[in-house]
Amino acid sequence: MAFELPKLQFAYNALEPNIDGNTMEIHHSKHHQGYTNNLNNAISGSELEGKSIEEICKTPNLSAAVRNNGGGFFNHRLFWDIMSPEGGGVPANKVGTAINNTFGDFESFKNDFSKAAATRFGSGWAWLCVSNGKLSICSTANQDNPLMQEGCGGTPILCLDVWEHAYYLNYQNRRPDYINAFFNIINWDKVNELYLEAL
Ligand code: MN
Repeated sequence: MAFELPKLQFAYNALEPNIDGNTMEIHHSKHHQGYTNNLNNAISGSELEGKSIEEICKTPNLSAAVRNNGGGFFNHRLFWDIMSPEGGGVPANKVGTAINNTFGDFESFKNDFSKAAATRFGSGWAWLCVSNGKLSICSTANQDNPLMQEGCGGTPILCLDVWEHAYYLNYQNRRPDYINAFFNIINWDKVNELYLEAL
């Protein structure tokens, strides 16, 4: 069974003004579709065909095509999942408590995560992960993700795409404004669900 582009749980324009509909449509229907198609082509007929995307990402010594497009498939699927038009605010659930215990308070977490996203040079992602019950923040280059590498580790439960294609139409060079707006649409119920699954 080939990988399929996941359907969004909201309309392309539903995240406005935080992320504009045009950006969302191109990002989902062109970029994510492209990673999905290229991943399917790259694994077709290989021993990776039929494996889960998590298993593929964790496989050592991936070809560039599988690494880039497998990462692109996994990363965007999680990204759409952890955003919602009804999102934002400060989480008052288990992951909210864990964030406070790990980073001091929500503002400190927001600062650390935003810094990881803002200082990723060029294209990449910022992450919140769970490993052995502990939360950590990191960032990766290109379409890499924490499943692929040591030292940036664990199970990703929150991610932010900082490729220019994710924000340039609306924010141009103002990546920090895009990062700030992302906090208005984080689906903390979903992040909490992923956190509990990862414990
Ligand atoms: Mn992207």
